[in-house]
Amino acid sequence: MNVNQSIPPVPPFGQPQPVYPGYHQSSYSGQSGSTAPAIPYGAYNGPVPGYQQTLPQGISRAPPSSGAPPASTAQAACGQVAYGQFGQGDVQNGPSSTVQMQRLPGSQPFGSPLAPVGSQPAVLQPYGPPPTSAQVTAQLAGMQISGAVAPAPPSSGLGYGPPTSLASASGSFPNSGLYGSYPQGQASPVSQAQGHPRIQTPQRSAPSQASSFTPPASGGPRLPSMTGPLLPGQGFGGPSVSQPNHVSSPPPQALPPGTQITGPLGPPPPMHSPQQPGYQPQQNGSFGSTRGPQPNYGSPYPAAPTFGSQPGPPQPLPPKRLDPDAIPSPQLNELPPQQKTRHRIDPDAIPSPIQVIEDDRNNRGTEPFVTGVRGQVPPLVTTNFLVKDQGNASPRYIRCTSYNIPCTSDMAKQAQVPLAAVIKPLARLPPDEASPYVVDHGESGPLRCNRCKAYMCPFMQFIEGGRRFQCCFCSCINDVPPQYFQHLDHTGKRVDAYDRPELSLGSYEFLATVDYCKNNKFPSPPAFIFMIDVSYNAIRTGLVRLLCEELKSLLDFLPREGGAEESAIRVGFVTYNKVLHFYNVKSSLAQPQMMVVSDVADMFVPLLDGFLVNVNESRAVITSLLDQIPEMFADTRETETVFVPVIQAGMEALKAAECAGKLFLFHTSLPIAEAPGKLKNRDDRKLINTDKEKTLFQPQTGAYQTLAKECVAQGCCIDLFLFPNQYVDVATLSVVPQLTGGSVYKYACFQVENDQERFLSDLRRDVQKVVGFDAVMRVRTSTGIRAVDFFGAFYMSNTTDVELAGLDGDKTVTVEFKHDDRLNEESGALLQCALLYTSCAGQRRLRIHNLALNCCTQLADLYRNCETDTLINYMAKFAYRGVLNSPVKAVRDTLITQCAQILACYRKNCASPSSAGQLILPECMKLLPVYLNCVLKSDVLQPGAEVTTDDRAYVRQLVTSMDVAETNVFFYPRLLPLTKSPIESTTEPPAVRASEERLSNGDMYLLENGLNLFLWVGASVQQGVVQSLFSVSSFSQITSGLSVLPVLDNPLSKKVRGLIDSLRAQRSRYMKLIVVKQEDKLEMLFKHFLVEDKSLSGGASYVDFLCHMHKEIRQLLS
Ligand SMILES: [Zn+2]
Repeated sequence: MNVNQSIPPVPPFGQPQPVYPGYHQSSYSGQSGSTAPAIPYGAYNGPVPGYQQTLPQGISRAPPSSGAPPASTAQAACGQVAYGQFGQGDVQNGPSSTVQMQRLPGSQPFGSPLAPVGSQPAVLQPYGPPPTSAQVTAQLAGMQISGAVAPAPPSSGLGYGPPTSLASASGSFPNSGLYGSYPQGQASPVSQAQGHPRIQTPQRSAPSQASSFTPPASGGPRLPSMTGPLLPGQGFGGPSVSQPNHVSSPPPQALPPGTQITGPLGPPPPMHSPQQPGYQPQQNGSFGSTRGPQPNYGSPYPAAPTFGSQPGPPQPLPPKRLDPDAIPSPQLNELPPQQKTRHRIDPDAIPSPIQVIEDDRNNRGTEPFVTGVRGQVPPLVTTNFLVKDQGNASPRYIRCTSYNIPCTSDMAKQAQVPLAAVIKPLARLPPDEASPYVVDHGESGPLRCNRCKAYMCPFMQFIEGGRRFQCCFCSCINDVPPQYFQHLDHTGKRVDAYDRPELSLGSYEFLATVDYCKNNKFPSPPAFIFMIDVSYNAIRTGLVRLLCEELKSLLDFLPREGGAEESAIRVGFVTYNKVLHFYNVKSSLAQPQMMVVSDVADMFVPLLDGFLVNVNESRAVITSLLDQIPEMFADTRETETVFVPVIQAGMEALKAAECAGKLFLFHTSLPIAEAPGKLKNRDDRKLINTDKEKTLFQPQTGAYQTLAKECVAQGCCIDLFLFPNQYVDVATLSVVPQLTGGSVYKYACFQVENDQERFLSDLRRDVQKVVGFDAVMRVRTSTGIRAVDFFGAFYMSNTTDVELAGLDGDKTVTVEFKHDDRLNEESGALLQCALLYTSCAGQRRLRIHNLALNCCTQLADLYRNCETDTLINYMAKFAYRGVLNSPVKAVRDTLITQCAQILACYRKNCASPSSAGQLILPECMKLLPVYLNCVLKSDVLQPGAEVTTDDRAYVRQLVTSMDVAETNVFFYPRLLPLTKSPIESTTEPPAVRASEERLSNGDMYLLENGLNLFLWVGASVQQGVVQSLFSVSSFSQITSGLSVLPVLDNPLSKKVRGLIDSLRAQRSRYMKLIVVKQEDKLEMLFKHFLVEDKSLSGGASYVDFLCHMHKEIRQLLS
């Protein structure tokens, strides 16, 4: 080895990587057990170009990698929206009792310290005497733990004046609002456009690779006609037709199995005359045939009215109210069975998400995905597969809407396929995949292109015997520094290429030099500050007690670096209502000390020394504090809270300590106390479907954005835990978490007994997860395309740098690209995502992800290499941001138009000529309509009456930083039958489509969407099954709304509980179980997630939407 100095002592590959050690619980942080950094770090210092760059210029060059992109399928599911809780109480913040405590003008020591004060006067005492010297009389009052036993938190109705009617709605299905407020015509794009209740009967026909259907010609009812026998091996890539959920695609024409999309599809299938009045059941298998009533399913519910095929009378209108009680089931049964089922399109004849997912699992789940080949479409997010990094970033880090980009912007405009990448820079990896290697170039720092500042990567081309390299992004020729020189082999490759991660891998890390640090100073380890609302509601619900108890043990599990014995993260504590209480927990103190700051208008931190401490050193004092907090405020009657000053205080504390960090805020109510950021209740459901609806998503005041900017500058990330009993204005409160890369959790009508498991589980995971602090992300591209738009939880002060006060392994940033020049088929296109961040131990690092894509001059290549799940991720984020500025209906229309254009372009340019009556979808996009429909009828874009404004803002904010797997299951939930598979089977049962038709009343199903988890129990489930699972003797004895299954020692109980655990382990947030009985009122809530059905809020059924989409496409083509 020559001058190279940074070669690790051991070959870098095949050894454990340094990572963020998690806590040993494997369920948190998937990367436990990693060991110390593999590479010794060199000295820091030495000049390195700054992080800020200019855009690449010049001409792109061919990267070394090559290879043809395999065609591939893509897709998975999306579903309906939901949040953790439903139902909001209608409680006000509570009458501000006249006995309200006085606010103090200044900071002042907590008078009679923490002695638990039994009665009211005592509580007031601390705040009582107006401070003589306002401000910083930062004297520390010694906290004493008096032996007096503090009374338990008041139960509601103690006569304190605060809320009494609390949470009456908790757990029950809310029924606010009238369904009628959503005009029928406007509610459903389909019905609107098609003029329901006209009979629209799509017909399945030419299958082959391109999925084609024959929906009705516009204008009149058309008879579905099944022509052509089934060919083996055809259909949507799915095998047997006999499977209930299989999208059987009966090829009318004799196409060889596996025909590519581009191939001619043959003549259009014969069709019945449009005028034909009768709708005879079809005969060829299930294709195009009308479906009879579902076996085992007695009565269709109104929630999913039979799809509009009734020639005569309009369909029964959905009930006016969402109140389940208002929906008389018998009424439904009055419809004659034939009328309900006749003439409908066979749902099995349209593309099935379940089948696509299953096919991909079967076809691609068995072999590792090796990233050496440019432009490969990875397996679906729903497929379990192993990734081997051979030069391109793993799809766990980057997924693209297409892996083959049109060469020109004209082509791209014609296709309308968004070019976007969903990037998750700190994604957690499964245990059998190595985390990125850390490369240390010592004081010289990472090697970069002099012009575009791209980092050394496998695509850089070494020339002139290795003395220079040409940049693969901007073509600039750079000198190789002497210490990095290496000879080339006969192919022009450096002989040390495989010894260096940055020359052979898609993802790796560099240790950053001091030039990459703020103020040219290496950062201090970050700090966590826990800021706890101790107002009446927080105390009354038991939240404060629960939280303090949990923190005592949770603090042992702060993120650690490598094999570090203890976390480098320091902690601090603040409690607040409308004043703030800071705590000195210095290890030398016998007892914690409290300092009160009541001048919230001009927030400052009253103590520095002793506020942020090492957990182990100060353990006794911290434990004492956490014991005392619930007692101290046990009798509080303060109902008002502040919010902005709390974050301000935390941020100032980090600033004073010169470190980055995270604030964990536990907050219960609308901050109405007089202070900066004071909010008013401006919720107004009447704005829905008006031009002013967007205001519901916008923050009330600019104070929150201003504060967020300051937080970002300080590297202060905010995770917000909300426990509202009523409207808290999530749209405004989530601004700071959103812009700082933080998370928001919401537990409506929180009750310890019902919600503690979910809250504690989320909290544990959140506190323990690895975070990169004070981060900046830059995406560089080769010449011809550039990143133009960004979606996610971050802040941007210019057009290129994504600033993240914090970034964890769950957060994604979606980046959209546009052409600024012509691309070259030969050279392809390159992306390089560089994330500069501070690790949880305070180490400054750069994480680099590279990805090479193909470029095409044929549109068919684009359509063959798309990933619908990623497209939907992008489109949902695009739409969810759009509602901030545009009427929701306009946003929906934009999505529909874009989807139609994408599909029309395919039809026009890639599909073989065929009858206009056929709907032909590209194989890779055959699920685009069903998934897009799920986005369109999600609660943000088309809210049902039961969806609160806060819920919508919450979901909007959540989706913004979801990865592809999360949006997939969120928009199209998974529905798993429980008794169909053998009891001894340990694998997940195969899912069924999210439609009421798929439910058998003799079975039970689990439904999950990443946030919600239901167990639906059919009314005719066998008694033995009921007994085994619920320990009651009959269906009627099962408690509706149950959230915990009894632990019973029998195979079924074990299996179901095990499956629930397994589903929860797959998701980043804890899903609380809700048991729903068939025909019970909670069932309405459950049905909200059956996304293939028509929704009560007017959302189209899948079949309806497909017809509508077909009509739109035909319009575009004519
Ligand atoms: Zn360059």
